[in-house]
Amino acid sequence: MYDYDVIIIGGGLAGLTAAIHLSQEKHEVLVLEKNPYPHHKVCGEYVSNEIIPYLNKLGVPLKNSRAVQIDKLQLSTVSGKATHAKLPLGGIGISRYRFDALLYEKALENGVQFAFESATAIAYADDSFLVTTANNTTFSSRIAIGAYGKRSTIDKQLNRDFIQRKSAWLGVKAHYQWDAFPENQVALHNFKGGYAGLSKTETGAVNFCYLASYKSFQEEKSVAGFNAKVVAKNPFLNDFLAKATPIFNQPITIAQLSFAAKQSVENHIIMCGDTAGLIHPLCGNGMAMAIHSAKIASEYIHNYLTEERYSRTQLESDYTTAWSTSFKSRLWMGRQLQALLLSENLSKLALKMVTTSPGLLRKLIRNTHGKPIAC
Ligand SMILES: Cc1cc2nc3c(=O)[nH]c(=O)nc-3n(C[C@H](O)[C@H](O)[C@H](O)COP(=O)(O)OP(=O)(O)OC[C@H]3O[C@@H](n4cnc5c(N)ncnc54)[C@H](O)[C@@H]3O)c2cc1C
Repeated sequence: MYDYDVIIIGGGLAGLTAAIHLSQEKHEVLVLEKNPYPHHKVCGEYVSNEIIPYLNKLGVPLKNSRAVQIDKLQLSTVSGKATHAKLPLGGIGISRYRFDALLYEKALENGVQFAFESATAIAYADDSFLVTTANNTTFSSRIAIGAYGKRSTIDKQLNRDFIQRKSAWLGVKAHYQWDAFPENQVALHNFKGGYAGLSKTETGAVNFCYLASYKSFQEEKSVAGFNAKVVAKNPFLNDFLAKATPIFNQPITIAQLSFAAKQSVENHIIMCGDTAGLIHPLCGNGMAMAIHSAKIASEYIHNYLTEERYSRTQLESDYTTAWSTSFKSRLWMGRQLQALLLSENLSKLALKMVTTSPGLLRKLIRNTHGKPIAC
């Protein structure tokens, strides 16, 4: 016998969405999450509208969250040459502090069990999983979902390919008060060795979040020094840093960000969200992909748990194919765009092209996003 039908490691957007979906199908679900809610996370906090129909169907009360509606994109190069575009589908601005907690509350209401512990090991044997936590507690289940984000000790235990390689990126995020920033806009400003996103959240605060290469960051060693000497070289970011008031005591950071390809199933564990693959943040689509991958996984897992003839092999094969069909080309496009944006000369040329042809920019945005998720 098992303790649960499904154990989900990691209660971020992917893990919580799968928990809500599977509990609605009346499966017994345990989420292992290392940090109690609510908590801040490094993230641009712009969520593509493609996930709204699905979250509505799951009964997540997004309407009460006071998330702001965003339909405009501003882009600028290091020297401050800028362009605007209307976002084809648009999105919402909501802090991860609120968004994750909203999903957590819905999962609790559905009867999902939570243990605020770090999972340290997962073993598959005799057609079931045994998950061990840092407190040496063990839990068993028929299905295990890996939704623990960008990297974790579990990746080391599974000896995943990407974890062997050092990654050259870090992320920084903080909230600021700056009323002059337009509520309906997300801005993407380039600087040497990285780029920063600015957008408003449900509290009225502006989220300032950037991705930077270690190479450029290492020369300054502190966030304050890096902001002053590198980030502020972009006139838009200089203006923002001069006029906006920090709300956080300290920015939060995340290191060792890897954009390498990953497997969507490892040792029979179904991987969702960033655990299956991280899209470059400039695309503003990682959260939608995390939620969408959780939907796809939950549908196949429900088949496995309810249909005797639907085997684990079939589940793993169907999920791998569906994941690849849904996300592989978006990840590829994200890689190309990031390479373009980080080359000073190419980004100038690209900006010139998209300024003269707004249709081209809309096409690029469409290619890094999905359509509204069909329910
Ligand atoms: C700089 C930056 C900016 C971004 N901006 C945007 C944006 O504007 N829009 C967008 O859509 N996407 C953006 N993204 C991507 C987005 O943040 C991710 O794609 C999204 O958070 C993925 O959700 P997830 O559920 O897979 O992972 P997460 O949200 O990271 O959740 C993983 C959870 O697992 C928990 N966990 C980890 N290890 C363990 C363990 N061993 N045991 C128990 N729990 C564990 C963590 O505490 C965490 O809560 C950005 C990413 C970066 C780096």
